[in-house]
Amino acid sequence: MAQELKVAVIGGGYAGMATAAELASHNIPVTVFESARQLGGRARGVQYNGTQLDNGQHLLLGCYRETLRLIELVGGDVERDFLRMPLQLDLHGHFSLRAPHLPAPLHLLVALLAAQGLSWGERIKAARFMLALRGMRFRLVHDVTVAELLKQHGQDADLSLKLWEPLCIAALNTPMQKASAQVLLNVLRDSLNRKRADSDMLLPRIDFTTLLPQRAAGYVERHGGKVHLSCGAESIVPKDFGIEVITPQGTQLFSHVICATSPTVAADLLRSLPALSETVSRIDALEQQPIYTVYLQYPAQVQLPHPMIGLHRGYSQWLFDKGRIAGQRGLLAAVISAEGIHQELSQDELAQKVIAELRSEFGIDTTPQWFKVIAEKRATFCCSPDLQRPAQRTAIPNLLLAGDYTAGDYPATLEGAVLSGLYCAKSIPEA
Ligand SMILES: Cc1cc2nc3c(=O)[nH]c(=O)nc-3n(C[C@H](O)[C@H](O)[C@H](O)COP(=O)(O)OP(=O)(O)OC[C@H]3O[C@@H](n4cnc5c(N)ncnc54)[C@H](O)[C@@H]3O)c2cc1C
Repeated sequence: MAQELKVAVIGGGYAGMATAAELASHNIPVTVFESARQLGGRARGVQYNGTQLDNGQHLLLGCYRETLRLIELVGGDVERDFLRMPLQLDLHGHFSLRAPHLPAPLHLLVALLAAQGLSWGERIKAARFMLALRGMRFRLVHDVTVAELLKQHGQDADLSLKLWEPLCIAALNTPMQKASAQVLLNVLRDSLNRKRADSDMLLPRIDFTTLLPQRAAGYVERHGGKVHLSCGAESIVPKDFGIEVITPQGTQLFSHVICATSPTVAADLLRSLPALSETVSRIDALEQQPIYTVYLQYPAQVQLPHPMIGLHRGYSQWLFDKGRIAGQRGLLAAVISAEGIHQELSQDELAQKVIAELRSEFGIDTTPQWFKVIAEKRATFCCSPDLQRPAQRTAIPNLLLAGDYTAGDYPATLEGAVLSGLYCAKSIPEA
């Protein structure tokens, strides 16, 4: 019976709040414990100098169906909350690809054949590669690195640098030489192969705490649940008739516990449980990759030519104009994903490189009023081939794991986190 269930969710990021909202939608009592003062985890709003930022610029794809569904479930409005753009990749002055208004996957083939900055030979090779992947149903017999797959399909260096490398790093946050080709194909399958709108790029107009986790907390509380902030779990103790969650504020017994923290915290919380040693060693084996975001506040009249634009071989991989996206005029964000030489620079040096690139590429001569570098050194797991990610179900039946790093088709993304949370919620008997 639903009344006998008492579920704890440890961690109020996208995975945890997806679990909690899904349980609440089935009227199952749920208590969320979040150690930070705010919800959102690695996708959270940050206030700086009176300006609303995120801990990193995020982008969703139209195929992130469950994340978009949940945003609406808890009171959001996807068309209002995002700037929706049809698939387009612009590397300023070097490469440009835009999907026309055609059904998928024709929109991509035409976009590849019309791409600017590639020779005819390269465009045909890229289109042939996409057709070959479709013929393989986006499944590899043996996983390899993205670099190896591109080599097998004759994608030469220039084509890789302009098209596949930016896509791979944006999708997997892992360099091509280390990244799983199969996971990249999973993303291409879902975003490029089905409906045209699946490849749309959605840029948030509001911060990432508000977008889903905060609204989900309201939804959970309206359905009889509780969300505790600044209340981290210190330990998880299986008992004969449930599982205890111990926080500095006290101990509570639950029928089920879903651990939805980041992988490092999950490993620490589970390490004392001998039954979960296999799970813990899988988590310990995950390598991490960073993401750096440099926010720069320029005078209001400063703009980029597009809401989102890439640089070919720059420090800044992608630049976002928050004025065009969210009405925050003059606010620009430069995103630098995955490992690289930028990690050898101090935050000030990195910001100066970005400022110099904005000057040389777009003629932005004024000095920003302020800048803020946010370095997420453990932004995502390194998505390498054949990675053995821990399953959501553990050797302790009523203790489950949610999070972007748990087993699934997707790399570390919001949709991956949400899907893992939904899986956990649906594994609770009455959900
Ligand atoms: C800078 C950056 C940019 C990114 N860009 C994109 C993007 O464009 N698109 C995309 O799809 N994905 C992107 N990602 C990845 C995405 O943000 C993550 O995959 C997702 O947020 C992970 O959610 P999660 O719930 O699994 O984990 P987390 O967000 O890490 O949530 C875990 C939560 O647990 C809490 N916690 C920790 N310890 C405890 C404890 N002891 N007790 C209770 N609570 C605890 C944490 O405070 C946190 O709120 C980006 C990530 C970063 C860092």
